[in-house]
Amino acid sequence: MNILVLNCGSSSVKYQLIDVDKKVFLAKGGVDRIGMSGAVLTNTRADGDEIKISGDILDHTIAIEYILAVLLSKNHGVITSKSEIHAVGHRVVHGAETFTGTVLITDEVIKGIRDNFEIAPLHNPHNLRGINACQTHLPNIPQAGVFDTAFHHAIPPFAYIYGIPYSLYSQYKIRRYGFHGTSHAYVANRAAELLRKDLTKLKVITCHLGNGCSIAAIDKGVSVDTSMGFTPLEGLLMGTRSGDVDPSVILYVMAKEGLNYSEANTLLNKHSGLQGISGVSSDMREIVTEMNEGNKRAKLAFDVFTYRIKKYIGSYVAALGGLDALVFTGGIGENSPDVRRAVCENLDYLGIDVDKTSNSSKEKEKVISGDKARASVFVIPTNEELMIAMETKGVVEGLKKK
Ligand code: ADP
Repeated sequence: MNILVLNCGSSSVKYQLIDVDKKVFLAKGGVDRIGMSGAVLTNTRADGDEIKISGDILDHTIAIEYILAVLLSKNHGVITSKSEIHAVGHRVVHGAETFTGTVLITDEVIKGIRDNFEIAPLHNPHNLRGINACQTHLPNIPQAGVFDTAFHHAIPPFAYIYGIPYSLYSQYKIRRYGFHGTSHAYVANRAAELLRKDLTKLKVITCHLGNGCSIAAIDKGVSVDTSMGFTPLEGLLMGTRSGDVDPSVILYVMAKEGLNYSEANTLLNKHSGLQGISGVSSDMREIVTEMNEGNKRAKLAFDVFTYRIKKYIGSYVAALGGLDALVFTGGIGENSPDVRRAVCENLDYLGIDVDKTSNSSKEKEKVISGDKARASVFVIPTNEELMIAMETKGVVEGLKKK
């Protein structure tokens, strides 16, 4: 079964056409600068063939038209007819309390996604544009919505309610939702496979460390707590996002500097995190390089970043009442031995220990636990697209049974 996986942002669409039974991609790529000058589509086929096409890509509907044209093209394509696409799986960022799992896209689901625009104004409208575009270009093909928040839907109220008046939850649904759910679910499942154990018997902590960073406590396959909250701003330090901060700091800075809502939002989302502390970069590679050259602010950013992950791991071991596996994923989690070493240093009393040699080996997927470890420590490359494809396949197979 071939599934087209789409991730639609404000001015971009990322895609993969995946043979979900063989768990391989046939082609993948993205369209950037939608609605701007210099819009470009890049497509890479599994055999390495790569093509870039530029054009007037004014909106998501035209972007999808370009993507389908390249997938069908004689020289660079991988299919000969649209009917070889059996379903479309969409990444949808915010499911709020409406969507607790993957769903078939229907008019009612579209209404539900639209109803959540207010709490996810930066993401859901673009995700819906992708859905509408596929309804235009692939009208008879089932589409599924896979929500970033869904994996965290079972977090208990004592972990999702904030210490503010309850009426704000009742009225505006202000609570912890959590994000990166597809990635946390994928790597937790993969860790169980590697351990040859049933995930429903394990206590797992997953660290997704990319430009956005979050950590999840997973008990018996169910996410019971996670660091991102009402929005993806809470929790760990990130590339340009602050993560946890005393709310009074924001109010104080708004008053001192005369910032309005939008300026304060930009400060916390775009000028904070690794970038804000170091003044160097939001990119961990540059932080590590500068730190090794003696830049004290880069070292401080690195230390704040790793210390906070360590602190969350401690609290999640407490929340889980033990630990069987700790997983690192995302661009930093997968590629930075320095970050993994610093995070796991002196955690042997929790059963966490990292072996120096395996931590710095070149393998992409690996066990890095050391001699003193009681929990297995893994590096597992995330594959959100494959997870979305597998979820979509489940929905399509459910349809056939009806
Ligand atoms: P996104 O969250 O946008 O998907 P990624 O998961 O690709 O981002 O992660 C981007 C982060 O991964 C950047 O901070 C980048 O510096 C970091 N990264 C990528 N390769 C390495 C590496 N070899 N060493 C350290 N950090 C790396």
